[in-house]
Amino acid sequence: MQLYTKILIGLVLGVVVGLVANVLALTWLQSALAFIEPVGTAFIRLITMVVVPLVAASLLIGTASLGDLRKLGRIGGKTVVYYLSTTAVAVTIGIVLSNVVQPGGRIDAATRDTLSAAFAEEAGQRVALAAEKPSIQETLLGMIPTNPIQAAANMELLPLIVFTILFGAALTLVAEERRRAVLTFAEGVNDAVMVLIDWIMKLAPYAVFALIATVVSQFGLDLLRSLLVYTLTVTAGLLLHALGTFSFIIRFLVKMNPVTFFRRVAEAPLVAFSTSSSNATLPVTMETAEENLGISREVSSFVLPLGATINMDGTALYQAVATMFIAQIYGIPLDIGAQLTIVLTATLASIGAAGVPSAGIIILVLVLQSVGLGTQAAAGIALILGVDRILDMLRTAVNVTGDLTAASFIARTEGEALVPRPMDHPVAMRKV
Ligand code: ASP
Repeated sequence: MQLYTKILIGLVLGVVVGLVANVLALTWLQSALAFIEPVGTAFIRLITMVVVPLVAASLLIGTASLGDLRKLGRIGGKTVVYYLSTTAVAVTIGIVLSNVVQPGGRIDAATRDTLSAAFAEEAGQRVALAAEKPSIQETLLGMIPTNPIQAAANMELLPLIVFTILFGAALTLVAEERRRAVLTFAEGVNDAVMVLIDWIMKLAPYAVFALIATVVSQFGLDLLRSLLVYTLTVTAGLLLHALGTFSFIIRFLVKMNPVTFFRRVAEAPLVAFSTSSSNATLPVTMETAEENLGISREVSSFVLPLGATINMDGTALYQAVATMFIAQIYGIPLDIGAQLTIVLTATLASIGAAGVPSAGIIILVLVLQSVGLGTQAAAGIALILGVDRILDMLRTAVNVTGDLTAASFIARTEGEALVPRPMDHPVAMRKV
């Protein structure tokens, strides 16, 4: 059985068991689920454990083997333009849907106030976190690490990526013998990490079951019902973007059958869905790109770590719908200018969101402020917080699929054939 089939089974079983525990209020089952939850946490920790060595080693190999700084600039430029454009498309889908469906027009004031009151404290914490967010200038400066080891230690991926790219670029100018020594070491690290990922992924189906069952069992269906139209609008938007925009790009620009594409990449969005974190999924995303899609390490090692940190189509789309929803609930009209502002800020804000659980809802405050909803931010966020976990799972799956679509597109424009390279590990034996 394919790994993704096993993960899918884990996921479906998790939903069923979680629902049974929740709907029938079976406390013994809930305690049993709480008991196995650590399997899920262990999986997330294990997979997060390999992110830093993987990004550092593979990005170094990728950059240094480009051998040509102009090529690096070309791929970098294309990637950033592509990321911004697809994210803007995602936000636009979110805005158009919110105008058509009017999710905020269907909630009465009493439900609104009960929900806002129930989550007020938690929402206050998120708003406070957003207030700590640095300015744009500080964010840009923050991309330059003063100490790359510290950036790695704190898992600040963007500064780590900047350092590694510069270091890799410098390496291309170093004498062949020295350069080889560094690269051989990095190749060894990379291969060992790939073997580790294979080991860790054996745990994935069980971990996914544990993670999903616990979330679903704690998750009140009532809450979902009261926010059903909002939840469905975000979900519909995400599906439209994944099945529409991504399929279009895959079909016409990558020239691959979208069904084949989705089948090949399935593991990555499934893990993203279960972990709610693009960063934690990164090792799986990279392995999927190289082995199942046949994307070169040059491209995947550059496009994917960058994508996990800055390319978040799902998050941006969700922020657009959430902003429109909150405005509609409080009866604040947003004209076309304000809606364009949402396109701009949600695109930029999603870049600023880290690839970790719940990052999107913190950054949402900035989008709300940009259209004058600052005073409604705390109450509005309190309102949607209850269903945020499930939406976080969905949008993260879309974020990661977007990264893989991007990597396929960039690889194609670089003339790659995209033939899968299923590896019989141990990878240590394979030529890099
Ligand atoms: N959890 C998302 C991710 O890691 C970010 C978000 O909260 O939207 O991609």
